[in-house]
Amino acid sequence: MKDSARAVIIGGGVVGASVLYHLAKIGWRDVLLLEKSELTSGSTWHAAGGMHTFNGEANISRLQKYTIDLYREIEQLSGQSCGLHPNGGLMLAATSGELDSLKLICSRARYLGMETEMISLGEAQSLNPLIDTSHFIGALWRADGGHCDPSGTTHAYVKAAQRLGARVERFTRVLSLTPRHDASWDVLTDKGTVRAEHVVNCAGLWAREVGHMVGIELPVLAMEHHYLITEDLPELAGREREIVNTTDYAGEIYMRQERRGALIGTYEPHGVVWAPVKTPDDFTMQLLPEDFERLAPYFEVGFQHFPALGRVGIRKAVNGPFTFAPDGNPLVGPVRGVRNYWVACAVMAGFSQGGGIGLVLSRWMAENDPGQDILSMDVARFGAFATPKYTSLKVPENYSRRFRLAYPNEELPAARPVRRSPIYERLIEAGAVMGANFGLENALWFAPAGTTAAETPTYRRSEAFPVVRAECQGVRSGVGIYETSNYGKYEVTGRGARAWLHRVFASRIPKPGRLGLAPMLNPAGRIVGDLSIACLAEDRFLIVGSGFAEEFHLRWFWLSEPPADVFVRSAASTLCGVSLAGPRSRELLQRLTRMDLSAQAFRLFQVAETAVGLTPAILTRAGFTGELGYEIWTTPDYFATLYDELRETGAGLGLIHFGGRALSSLRLEKAYGSFNKDFRPDYTPGETGLDRYIDFSKPDFVGRAAALAERAAGPRRRFVVMEVADADAEVVGYESIMQNGAAVGYVTSGAFGHYVDKSLAAGYVPAALAREGARFEIDVLGEMRSATVRLEPLYDPKGLRLRG
Ligand SMILES: Cc1cc2nc3c(=O)[nH]c(=O)nc-3n(C[C@H](O)[C@H](O)[C@H](O)COP(=O)(O)OP(=O)(O)OC[C@H]3O[C@@H](n4cnc5c(N)ncnc54)[C@H](O)[C@@H]3O)c2cc1C
Repeated sequence: MKDSARAVIIGGGVVGASVLYHLAKIGWRDVLLLEKSELTSGSTWHAAGGMHTFNGEANISRLQKYTIDLYREIEQLSGQSCGLHPNGGLMLAATSGELDSLKLICSRARYLGMETEMISLGEAQSLNPLIDTSHFIGALWRADGGHCDPSGTTHAYVKAAQRLGARVERFTRVLSLTPRHDASWDVLTDKGTVRAEHVVNCAGLWAREVGHMVGIELPVLAMEHHYLITEDLPELAGREREIVNTTDYAGEIYMRQERRGALIGTYEPHGVVWAPVKTPDDFTMQLLPEDFERLAPYFEVGFQHFPALGRVGIRKAVNGPFTFAPDGNPLVGPVRGVRNYWVACAVMAGFSQGGGIGLVLSRWMAENDPGQDILSMDVARFGAFATPKYTSLKVPENYSRRFRLAYPNEELPAARPVRRSPIYERLIEAGAVMGANFGLENALWFAPAGTTAAETPTYRRSEAFPVVRAECQGVRSGVGIYETSNYGKYEVTGRGARAWLHRVFASRIPKPGRLGLAPMLNPAGRIVGDLSIACLAEDRFLIVGSGFAEEFHLRWFWLSEPPADVFVRSAASTLCGVSLAGPRSRELLQRLTRMDLSAQAFRLFQVAETAVGLTPAILTRAGFTGELGYEIWTTPDYFATLYDELRETGAGLGLIHFGGRALSSLRLEKAYGSFNKDFRPDYTPGETGLDRYIDFSKPDFVGRAAALAERAAGPRRRFVVMEVADADAEVVGYESIMQNGAAVGYVTSGAFGHYVDKSLAAGYVPAALAREGARFEIDVLGEMRSATVRLEPLYDPKGLRLRG
């Protein structure tokens, strides 16, 4: 074995094999895969090999399509068959909610260029004659997908990589990882030490243990999973074409043809965690004992929905473990604080996702940028809150919902509450219906007294609709209070702080006493943050951004290498906040402070350290509703006092609570985009409109060259807000925006604008089409609805209320 490599990949399952191939393909020939046993010997060898393009996240769907399309390429390069059965997929709905979900998938698929359509149950049955259609009300067919041979596919990746110069050492166990001064690694194996510039954790079932080697706790856990293979089915005898792989939402069953029989698997509600504390070292090419007694009721449903399967015997049963992250998406990317250590693990659909993961990770390693938005599978979407216990509660929840629909208004209960602000109980008393953002409970809406603080999961308008409407109107006409503790908060201090911020952010860095909106770009000129910077003193800044991106931004700051005289610290748990918004917010706040809050004395985007009642606070005149408003930040010990005083003082002024739902409505009426939904690392300053906050006169900032090039050439597409013809549902995200029958763009977020009384959609369309009044159509749950571009915000286009 050679004693050095540019990158060592730990693990020879389908994911490690793909990373090896992609690194070799991108030009890193000196790459080495270490596998403690035989290739595929973890969870890969016993997989059912199903592959599909379905994922709630459009970017992951795209990468799944890439993975499936890649198989022909690696077959050709390697001469090794992947055993492809590209027979497409069927999804069956038994309830109106499931049907809505299929329609949403269809709408999204158009812009993604995926051949997908709603078909009749009769058509579904001709594609899979084993279905008893009496259990279903609708079906979706998609061309992409099918199944492959897990072992053949893994070996095809490896052989293709070897052709490009990559090396593989089987039966070589990595025992420990020791960082060297130059940020490279000593990889100690049972066959000697390899010095590697980079290390990639693709250890699948052992990813947690390979995380421990560098002192990190990855939120990953394995679950047992069963599938059965039946004896030959007479119904399939003589059929020339294989039946189409079928997913049955209601039965939580997947099934496909396996030779002349069928393979049927289930994601049961009370799944069993495997190896909760430590994965056994000697578990290799092994299966687990079957537990038919536990699984029988669930397979029984499958035998009702596909009756022919119940009429033949079982030829083989498989129970094997594989890993999940708490939300079911993979964990990919670099880890803050550990140089040159990368992860590609918790991949529960290796044959749909492995290729895409290899693609983005190899770019990230070689070019410092994954090349596209992968926030939904970035390891940084989890923070310290994702403890082993959190993971042990969330992973079984996710497993049990593998084939359940994720309704856009649904909040999942496991491991909650985990992070609570000091006013949590008070908000609950006020009727708050809570969601969790980066582990922190935050109010979505407030059920009026005498009503139930709960909501029916649906794609359509729920019982919360009139309540949110009242909250929005309360803000626009009076004053509302919204807790902002769930925003991401960072303190940047030190003599070098301003100079460092100048380089890291594309915007001007405000003077003391001012706040500025601050986009942050990557070197390719794409948006990695849309934050605000408040300058408290020449060497002291408070930065505020999206709560879900806290770890993502902390990692970005860390990678941006603050010099020794700059200190960057998360204020996630050291600052709590509320926003006061509405025309009466000044009147309320003035009753609690001696500061002069008049329009001339405390203008928009001014910042002060002051006292609000009994509370020492940082006060900014800013907000996200488009109204006159303030954000007040203080430490947790004062926070309840601040809240109580605001409530007491506001009672006489009609102060109301509002939650995240109302905020989404209010911000879209003002055409404000939101990071995560509308602004992500796929978009540029020109496309998002954030270019207006860029200080192009600065000689040097990250992404400057790319931003200048875009300014010269003009953006390709533009972020717009559209009025959508009213019905009983709003857009959710990623629906295709159509013109003359062609998908020209897609939706990024939507809400009903309660004050302007219109259904609103935000999204991207080609720049040439982004004209006032331009007409499009959006397929909302199967109904084509007209959508009209409004280039000016629908509410207060001149910003008079905001500045008032
Ligand atoms: C019953 C079942 C059915 C499934 N069906 C499907 C399906 O239809 N479609 C689909 O896409 N997915 C399916 N999966 C999931 C799929 O198996 C996984 O997504 C995939 O195997 C993950 O691959 P991996 O490379 O991440 O992990 P693994 O396959 O676990 O590979 C990790 C490798 O790392 C090696 N390793 C670990 N530690 C070390 C060390 N210290 N030194 C050296 N080597 C080390 C291990 O030996 C192992 O080979 C199924 C899983 C099961 C259990």
